[in-house]
Amino acid sequence: MRLILDGMERKPHAYPRLFEPLDLGFLTLRNRVLMGSMHTGLEEARGGMGRLARFYAERAEGEAGLIVTGGIAPNREGVVAFGGSRMARARHARHHRPITGAVHQAGGAIVMQILHAGRYAYTPLCVAPSAIKAPIGRFSPRALTSMGVERTIRAFVRSAVLAREAGYDGVEIMGSEGYLINQFVAAETNHRNDAWGGDFQRRCRFPEAIVKRIREAVGPDFLVMYRLSMLDLVAGGSNWQEVEALAKVVETAGATMINTGIGWHEARIPTIATMVPRGEFRFVTKRLMDKVGIPLITTNRFNDPKDCEDALAEGCADMVSMARPFLADARIVQKARLSHEASINTCIGCNQACLDHVFKQKIASCLVNPRACHEDQYEPKNQRGKHVAVVGGGPAGMSAALEQARAGAEVTLYERQPSLGGQLIVAKAIPGKEEFNETIRYFVHELEQAGVEVLTGVEADSERLASFDEVVVATGVKPRPWNVPGADRSEVVGYLDVLEGRVEVGRRVAVIGAGGIGFDVTDYLTHDADAAGFLASWGVDATLENRGGLAESQRKASHREVTMYQRGQGKMGANLGKSTGWIHRNTLRARGVKQETGVQYVKVDDEGLHVILSDGTNRVHPVDHVVVCAGQESRVPQGLNHPNMTVVGGAHNARSLDAQRAIREGLLTAFRLRSDTA
Ligand code: NAP
Ligand code: SF4
Repeated sequence: MRLILDGMERKPHAYPRLFEPLDLGFLTLRNRVLMGSMHTGLEEARGGMGRLARFYAERAEGEAGLIVTGGIAPNREGVVAFGGSRMARARHARHHRPITGAVHQAGGAIVMQILHAGRYAYTPLCVAPSAIKAPIGRFSPRALTSMGVERTIRAFVRSAVLAREAGYDGVEIMGSEGYLINQFVAAETNHRNDAWGGDFQRRCRFPEAIVKRIREAVGPDFLVMYRLSMLDLVAGGSNWQEVEALAKVVETAGATMINTGIGWHEARIPTIATMVPRGEFRFVTKRLMDKVGIPLITTNRFNDPKDCEDALAEGCADMVSMARPFLADARIVQKARLSHEASINTCIGCNQACLDHVFKQKIASCLVNPRACHEDQYEPKNQRGKHVAVVGGGPAGMSAALEQARAGAEVTLYERQPSLGGQLIVAKAIPGKEEFNETIRYFVHELEQAGVEVLTGVEADSERLASFDEVVVATGVKPRPWNVPGADRSEVVGYLDVLEGRVEVGRRVAVIGAGGIGFDVTDYLTHDADAAGFLASWGVDATLENRGGLAESQRKASHREVTMYQRGQGKMGANLGKSTGWIHRNTLRARGVKQETGVQYVKVDDEGLHVILSDGTNRVHPVDHVVVCAGQESRVPQGLNHPNMTVVGGAHNARSLDAQRAIREGLLTAFRLRSDTA
């Protein structure tokens, strides 16, 4: 599915299929958009249920067709981590009542996901069909006894019954992503020789029993959705015949709908990160469409209602799931229905503030929408009647100008470049980061809607700013200079020269610095290696014939010989996001990029780049270009002053600057924080 790169234009689209209600007999969904399950961290936070109620209610008001909660464990052994949320007692059901009440009041429908982590649980209590540790697990699981399997099934059923008592419209049984149910289904992780192991049919007894007994316990008028793993993307995973067979088992056992999942968590193939093309896995659901009689939901990297409509039109599914896009914009569905597409704050698939926060045990949020999951934490200031100047039209400046205007100020935004975007313009040049274009489109459109006066190609100075009540300086960053003899030679270029297309980079390249930008630039210079396309490059079997959906990677080494250098001894890219850093490291390794840590830079001359390697040896690296990605420094215009001036984003502090901090700091010029729960 192509990425819509129509710049600042977003034309309204028709959505005849997306807004066709889905009649389930006992419940009619108002449209075909599922808000997929996301763990937010609020599930376990003090006062989290009230905040979750507000979070989900905003999404229901925004017209999500059906909401799925984050994963809730059916028992203590099934939690993802210590203290994880459970639905196992009557008091748990009572705690969930504010959520279901708020969603129903907002006209929405919501189901609770029952997730048993199995061997993925980060607790020593973890259990699995067999005592086989997960490659990404911390603890070795205990193999469930036959009695233990029975107890676990009963826990699933009790959880569903309690969910009904809590007011949910149904449950989603998490049977994908490599969690306990997947572990029972796959031969690789199920070595049992009792009734719950053996051939495929016997391995399916566990999910079959769960669905069947839940259906018996909750009756016919309760939604039982099964999340089916369509492509395990691990060696020894299911083959297509098994996926299809399990879908039929689940349907016969009483499921109302089948939601789909792509890839176990331990799979080493990206499935939701921004470099995955939009809707790339929809072909898998399509193949199942005429094999079962219940509605099917397709998922993974949908972030635009137009793409959802197209997937339905192509016959890929009966419904489309989007999860993170509801963090980025609670009203994404409503905006599509009202033809306000240009106002959609699009999820860019970065994972930086959602998944990466959850991995660090922080409350999830969103890079492009810092209010997500913190809805009641930000109190807008009243800026009515104030004249505010914002200097700098990058992410921090655009965010500040927009929020100031929304808070009532009359705002003028100065940008010295011919267009808005700042570092986002640079970032969107990186292969797979084209989504930043959507962020620029959103801000440009919203600034216009909010009545901000945007002056591009204009440098602000103190004289111009004197008449304003407040000034926000968001002038961003500039590249840190590299002070090495020969750094002034023509073959030594900065990352901006490369990404802005000012140099034709040669075949032999040294990249100085291995932070986020060093990785991005190296990716940019070597992406010819992935010419075969995403699925083939990562070794996904698009024919669906192979077990686990795996094929041999068609990726070739890049035609460029690139070596990345850093002075520090640590692992390169250690500070990249937890959910995406491994993708960048694997990608560059597969493309043949070399890495040297612990180096000292000596000079650049006619022979090339001279360095002292970590073992003390001298090396001359003959290169066509040296690309400097040595970090950034604040850019604060000299002599800019005003009695009421706030400096934000990279201009305030260049260290560890990213778009997430920039947008949040811009927003905070117009908000007060009630209490920062980060
Ligand atoms: P960075 O992450 O601070 O990395 C700077 C790199 O330059 C380091 O590898 C550092 O390694 C090296 N360096 C620092 N001073 C140097 C000097 N004087 N001479 C030579 N090398 C020097 O900064 P960045 O790469 O510019 O990224 C900026 C920000 O954007 C970061 O916060 C980053 O997280 C974010 N970002 C993230 C991503 C992503 O997550 N994918 C992508 C782009 C940007 P040594 O000091 O060891 O040599
Ligand atoms: Fe999407 Fe990034 Fe926001 Fe997560 S942080 S919801 S991936 S834009």
